[in-house]
Amino acid sequence: MIELLITERCTQCNECVAICPSNVFDTVPGGAPVIARQTDCQTCYMCEMYCAADALFVGSNAQAPEPVDEAAIIASGWLGQIRRDSGWGEWAADPRYRNQQWYMGEVFKRGFGLGNIRRVDMTETDSVNKRLADLHAERVATYKPEDLAVNINQRQLLVDTADRATFIKPGDIVAPFSLPEADGGQVVLDELLANGPAVLVFFRFAGCPACNIALPYYQRQLHPALAARGVPLVAISPQIPERLIEIKERHKLGFFVASDTGNALGRNFGITFTANEESQRAMAAKGADLGQITGTGTWELPMPAAIVIGQDRVVRFADISPDWLIRTEADPILRIIDAVKGVAKAA
Ligand code: SF4
Ligand code: SF4
Repeated sequence: MIELLITERCTQCNECVAICPSNVFDTVPGGAPVIARQTDCQTCYMCEMYCAADALFVGSNAQAPEPVDEAAIIASGWLGQIRRDSGWGEWAADPRYRNQQWYMGEVFKRGFGLGNIRRVDMTETDSVNKRLADLHAERVATYKPEDLAVNINQRQLLVDTADRATFIKPGDIVAPFSLPEADGGQVVLDELLANGPAVLVFFRFAGCPACNIALPYYQRQLHPALAARGVPLVAISPQIPERLIEIKERHKLGFFVASDTGNALGRNFGITFTANEESQRAMAAKGADLGQITGTGTWELPMPAAIVIGQDRVVRFADISPDWLIRTEADPILRIIDAVKGVAKAA
């Protein structure tokens, strides 16, 4: 169970807040996050994995807290051990530690099980990131080590090398665009904004397992709330419309699903990437070609992103995730929408 957050080491990056599948941490404006719900911890160790400052300590007792002495933990050399032994961050290039995350399989499985035991009322626990963490835990438990390593390495590389300075951000002005919709017709920005703000969510492609978790989640938790506020939602992938229809029909999505031809919009927003050679080789070995799957002829995909655009075409919110197993929850999007519409009403 999470026992310690060492504020002197913390860089306030809030990665632990974002990654925790149990919502254990709360952010603190201008400060280090706090452990707000310790007993909700699944002992999955993900926060330790993602804390590049080695400021967190998760104890091995998954059932109950076991208070620890901060000075003793710092002196123990345990801080950062799991990142190192798993070959993450600065250890990724060190052949002694590379790709050893599957040693954590049993631990992740236990966290997965605990999460399921607690998941009694799904309406209270319907978090896209919890579901994606479950997907990852399942892969840790079932994938061949070499396949798991390719997946983890690609995601970690994206997190480490993403050029965040190029990402679309609040205050940017979005140029008019028109995208083909999976059902036919066009999604036109000016029409989306006719009555107020609009929400865009970028996803990878119709066959992506994580996108098949994220889009139904948005159908349940975001689309009805946006529709009640009169706000359109558009899910966007570079996949050609003829293949995007599959995911729209599979999940009976009530919102627009549009094709970003040639990744033009994604590139304009600075959020596309091309899979590394290791990933391309691994897919090719299974007879899969992403360019054929998407119909684009390339391996370029967008990073998952949620973007709120005001009626004046000014971006009000942009959350881009280099790791495709982390996506924007519905709540922050709805809070921004309410703030934007509140401001518009008051003006
Ligand atoms: S991940 Fe580590 S450095 Fe970042 S906010 Fe959490 S404790 Fe602080
Ligand atoms: S160990 Fe897992 S569940 Fe516990 S605080 Fe860290 S990320 Fe959250």
